[in-house]
Amino acid sequence: MMDKNIKILIVGAGPVGLTLHHFLKKEGFSRVRHIDKSLTMTQESRAIGIHSFTLEVILGELGFKEEFKKRGNVVQRLQFEEKGQILQTIELPRFICSIPQNITEEILNGGIEVQRGIECVYVDELGNARLKRQDQLIEEDQYDLILGADGTHSLVRQMVGIEFKGKSYPQTWSLKDVQFDHPPTPINTGSIQLYENGILLFMMATGPKTFRVFSNSPDCEKYLPKDICVVSTYWSANYHVHCRLASTYMKGKCIILGDAAHTSSPVGGTGMNSGMEDAYLFVKSLAKQDIHSWNQQRHRYEKTLLFWTDLIYRFMTKQGIIWQYMRRFVLKYVLSLKFLQRRFFHLFSRPR
Ligand SMILES: Cc1cc2nc3c(=O)[nH]c(=O)nc-3n(C[C@H](O)[C@H](O)[C@H](O)COP(=O)(O)OP(=O)(O)OC[C@H]3O[C@@H](n4cnc5c(N)ncnc54)[C@H](O)[C@@H]3O)c2cc1C
Repeated sequence: MMDKNIKILIVGAGPVGLTLHHFLKKEGFSRVRHIDKSLTMTQESRAIGIHSFTLEVILGELGFKEEFKKRGNVVQRLQFEEKGQILQTIELPRFICSIPQNITEEILNGGIEVQRGIECVYVDELGNARLKRQDQLIEEDQYDLILGADGTHSLVRQMVGIEFKGKSYPQTWSLKDVQFDHPPTPINTGSIQLYENGILLFMMATGPKTFRVFSNSPDCEKYLPKDICVVSTYWSANYHVHCRLASTYMKGKCIILGDAAHTSSPVGGTGMNSGMEDAYLFVKSLAKQDIHSWNQQRHRYEKTLLFWTDLIYRFMTKQGIIWQYMRRFVLKYVLSLKFLQRRFFHLFSRPR
């Protein structure tokens, strides 16, 4: 029988840390301390796509599914377009719930206690941790498990010397959360516009009036269809994307999950979903005293996911007329096959 009285420290209260905490509580682990260096929850809308496994299984088990459906927007199809012409429409086997990450975190913050304004400044494989409070007071303690859900620049990962191998893509991405004068597509339809030179523009509604627009170019607004006009901008950002995977998810008493363990391009919107899956499956394995299998399985799963997201990213953004023709051919003809549409969807949103 697993000892539910072990002492656990969760570092980081993003979507992955919050999911971890809920499942640990649900499984009856009673000595969980959860910290985050930030005094407030995320104010930014960052990840917007919740896939069906995350919604139905993970958030479903926590009893949050209905609230997500109520506060999010249901996306049922994806449309690929080029020069105003629709190349392909994919009816999604299961819908995507489009909801800003700050709302996701707001919902997940309910029912658990996170100690904010506390930064983890040291950990080691033996479970020792040093925490720094806002008033600069240092606390030291030892834990049976330290769970690093502390994002891409993870201190936990670096402290225990886990490698984070991969590459950074050269393009600068831009995103905007906007309101248009009129919706460019029905709000249940996500749109992907293809331009020359491998530029892509994504548009997805997060509510009846708000749209997320993003592109692998420094100014996504430049690529908006000419017949729509932005009336308000709520948030905008420029960022770079990477494809990296940790060499292992555990070392000694330290475990890493979510962005601390892997990061990928926006293709398929897998980052947050895959991280929440790490958390969900980790707690199930911990309860069964089988975290070594979890480590191997999640690592293998993510390696495959990163292979496909990287391949598709490179295919969709390659410059040159030949690649443009190939993209058009694949989207128009190859992806018209229904079974391939399902396979394509299940690559990103694992089937239940
Ligand atoms: C612009 C943008 C758009 C995105 N779109 C999507 C999308 O559509 N779909 C998708 O699935 N993903 C998307 N992502 C990725 C998604 O945001 C991340 O995958 C997700 O936030 C990872 O969650 P996490 O909990 O692992 O890490 P984070 O959300 O980064 O949370 C880490 C937390 O750890 C805390 N922390 C860090 N270091 C310490 C420390 N030393 N001590 C204490 N606390 C610490 C931080 O304050 C933070 O709260 C997007 C990301 C960006 C930037």
